[in-house]
Amino acid sequence: MEDSRERAEATGRRARKPSWLKVKVPLGGGFSRVRKIVDGQHLHTVCEDARCPNMDECWNRGTATFMILGDVCTRNCRFCAVQAGKPSPLDMDEPQRVAQAVRELGLRHVVITSVTRDDLADGGAGVFAETIRRVREYVTHCTVEILVPDFQGSPASLRLVCEAKPNLFGHNVETVPRLYPRVRPQADYRRSLSVLRYAAEEGLWVKSGFMVGLGETEEEILALLEDLREAEVEVVTIGQYLQPTKDHLPVQRFMHPEEFDAWKSKALGLGFRSVEAGPLVRSSYRADSALCA
Ligand code: SF4
Repeated sequence: MEDSRERAEATGRRARKPSWLKVKVPLGGGFSRVRKIVDGQHLHTVCEDARCPNMDECWNRGTATFMILGDVCTRNCRFCAVQAGKPSPLDMDEPQRVAQAVRELGLRHVVITSVTRDDLADGGAGVFAETIRRVREYVTHCTVEILVPDFQGSPASLRLVCEAKPNLFGHNVETVPRLYPRVRPQADYRRSLSVLRYAAEEGLWVKSGFMVGLGETEEEILALLEDLREAEVEVVTIGQYLQPTKDHLPVQRFMHPEEFDAWKSKALGLGFRSVEAGPLVRSSYRADSALCA
């Protein structure tokens, strides 16, 4: 049976999506209002940049994901659509503008993420901490989740961020260790686990996420979930890898929604408090619900 990768490689086109991934991105009334506020503050949301299929649902739930520290990354993961290259200088007003946008949007839960800034001494940890503090100053009822890069494993950078006491500390492992050289060559699986363990030992709620469809086996997915539990990760998301452009890694396989359900039960059986697993699940999908689990 010719799988999606062989067909994609044979035709040079991206693998055809199965029916369960063919969704229109509903842009309800909330969309233009959010867009106006976000653009007004010169900010980036991952929701828009990634044309996330869950945007409407999340924005109507009062959650959104902001990307700080610019939109150029110092790394070049083979699954990611973010531009790689020389980032722009730091924008020290950004934390304030994020806080203002959160207040204007009336968000109940905000996720703050970023590109990786290996060009900065603290990897951008200071700006993360300042953004958390500003959001707290501006909006008392909004929970703050962060989805951070690995800060090259620097304890000083991790301490800076953890001391700002985010409600949820997230760092994605993205895939199984065997695939790191091909999928995220500048990252290190053990280092990512130590970043998660550091935050857990600081008493924070910890979250991670990964994609399937890059060639991982069932045994590897199970071992990854066990490693995350061992690192005291409480919340996990599992989603389908989708090839952003023909220059990115091809999809090896599309996992069926029933398989995602099976992995959700397995992960809950391993002791995770909250699991979101599904073809359209992204790191911040229903992020607010994890804190009520
Ligand atoms: S480090 Fe993050 S933003 Fe940068 S290329 Fe990798 S996934 Fe994309």
